[in-house]
Amino acid sequence: MNGEEQAIILQKNLDKVEERIASSCKKVARKRTEVTLVGVTKTVDSSLAKLLMEKGIDHLGESRPQELWEKASHLPNAKWHFIGHMQRNKIDKTLPLVHLFHSVDSIRLLQALEDECKKQNRMLDFLLEVNISGEENKQGFDPALVPGLVNQLTSLRHLQCQGLMGMAAYSLEKEQCRPAFQLLRSTRDKLSGLLGKNLPELSMGMSNDFEIAIEEGATLIRLGSILWEGLEQK
Ligand SMILES: *Cc1c(COP(=O)(O)O)cnc(C)c1O
Repeated sequence: MNGEEQAIILQKNLDKVEERIASSCKKVARKRTEVTLVGVTKTVDSSLAKLLMEKGIDHLGESRPQELWEKASHLPNAKWHFIGHMQRNKIDKTLPLVHLFHSVDSIRLLQALEDECKKQNRMLDFLLEVNISGEENKQGFDPALVPGLVNQLTSLRHLQCQGLMGMAAYSLEKEQCRPAFQLLRSTRDKLSGLLGKNLPELSMGMSNDFEIAIEEGATLIRLGSILWEGLEQK
């Protein structure tokens, strides 16, 4: 497949996705500009990621530090979202590249990020990852424990919490994802009240369930496979 053919397929995929995003926004009277599409590039190489940027998507997401380093070296102008599990020995090299860190899933990580930001004299915007699916093998804080993080969060000097991130359990029956997204939103609202601070971002919704997520207030949707259908994935 040559570059031109890839560009045509990607454009078609994007047009379809865009239509669905717009119609979900319309359904619940939200503005299209309230929802940012983060293109998840973890299954493709840098040249397809670059093609996506050329189509106007400049928010890109990666779940592995080394992949992020590699792609960011080719695409320094993308706004990189880190959405995966972070080992602490990879924080130093990752921090300077990250626009928003979605997946803060432990107090240890929170503290390690704060320490490294202090060392590098930089600020970091982040989201707390919350386990909204109730699946034991999933990362993230138990929703019931999130209000208890208030003191931790107010003690941070270099990190700004911008909201929450979560993943619904995969389900063929998409309506089944709705309660998980409602739980993320209500957990955000509770934390926001306790902090006395606006937490604007809700990162929720993937290829399988983004329409429900938008209806429930998602501000960042993380889409991978639906963008790359028919293209060569790794
Ligand atoms: C891979 C991944 C996505 C994208 O998933 P798709 O189902 O391919 O859209 C979104 N969020 C996270 C955290 C991921 O790891």
